[in-house]
Amino acid sequence: MTETATAVPAGVTAADLDWSAAVAAIRSYAPDGRVLLVCHVNPDGDALGSMLGFALGLRRLDFSQLRATFPGAFEVPEPYAELPGLDLLVPAAEAWEDPDLMIVFDVAAESRLGPLVDRLPRAKATIVLDHHASNTGFGGINLVDPTAAATSVVAEQLLDWLDVPLDAEIAECLYVALATDTGSFKFDMTTPRVHEMAARLIATGIRPGEISRRIFDTRPFGAMKLFGEVLSRARLDPTAAGGHGMVWTYATLDDLSRHRQRPYVLDALIDPVRTVAEADVSMVVKQLAEGEWAVSLRSKGAVDVSAVAVSLGGGGHRLAAGFTGHGTPGDVVVAVRDRLNNFLI
Ligand code: 5GP
Ligand code: MN
Repeated sequence: MTETATAVPAGVTAADLDWSAAVAAIRSYAPDGRVLLVCHVNPDGDALGSMLGFALGLRRLDFSQLRATFPGAFEVPEPYAELPGLDLLVPAAEAWEDPDLMIVFDVAAESRLGPLVDRLPRAKATIVLDHHASNTGFGGINLVDPTAAATSVVAEQLLDWLDVPLDAEIAECLYVALATDTGSFKFDMTTPRVHEMAARLIATGIRPGEISRRIFDTRPFGAMKLFGEVLSRARLDPTAAGGHGMVWTYATLDDLSRHRQRPYVLDALIDPVRTVAEADVSMVVKQLAEGEWAVSLRSKGAVDVSAVAVSLGGGGHRLAAGFTGHGTPGDVVVAVRDRLNNFLI
């Protein structure tokens, strides 16, 4: 780093150098290099959409050895089962052992890579595309923009640097990612930049209504019944978070199996929970295994839930974060409630 300081032309920022370094690394391995693209465990729309959209962009650059994957159960949630580029997806066991280039999407910390973390030191070059302020900078080249509403914003920028034009397939992936992480263009980070990007994507001919129906507004009957049951056991504590209030519920593996539902259907459950007027903080505690829970946290602005999650071994954004909890759902709730007052905004 330091020895390049004198070689930096006037007017070129460190951030520009990161983009150039990423472009140089990618171009140096085209078209025969083995490229491994990875997103986080239990991938959401931004993880899958930014990874597959970027992978399709690399295909346009004639890369012939592309493999995209994610750690954990090899299951693409139904809402994303029609994403373009899924033919590039392989189970984690088939990830290149020694990739020339490893590109990581929407991953704030190495722990979110599971066993695939061992590919980081084996890859000749690593590029991380992300937008979490809590990102630990674990890549060789880190394109981390906490002002970006989604990782797909960073992915679109890098495709632009690579002179890859948007087409409808790339655009659909990046749009799904953008729509997911902005809560359908509803959250505060829905800036002019977000709508400008959405306009570029929609101009390729993609169908926003059809895409939204598929990814937000479609679920099995059993999932609706499951939601009803899990929502009916929600609890409200108006005294939590310095009086701003907390609402929470939990779902077990038994709940899932009784309603014959897959775990990812519960990812949407935080949305009705966070509508509760009497609570700033909302939480859904989802069983992963005996004594192990995936916890989703949201705030309306009174609490930095990313800091809460980081203090419990997780991460995320100020108003949307998560971590893996242990014990009973009650243990998890107590651990969170005890910390809320430390991270009031
Ligand atoms: P969700 O509640 O939708 O699963 O996640 C909300 C946000 O928190 C996302 O940005 C996600 O990447 C992050 N997040 C969720 N769980 C974890 C976790 O266990 N570790 C880390 N580092 N981040 C998490
Ligand atoms: Mn994201």
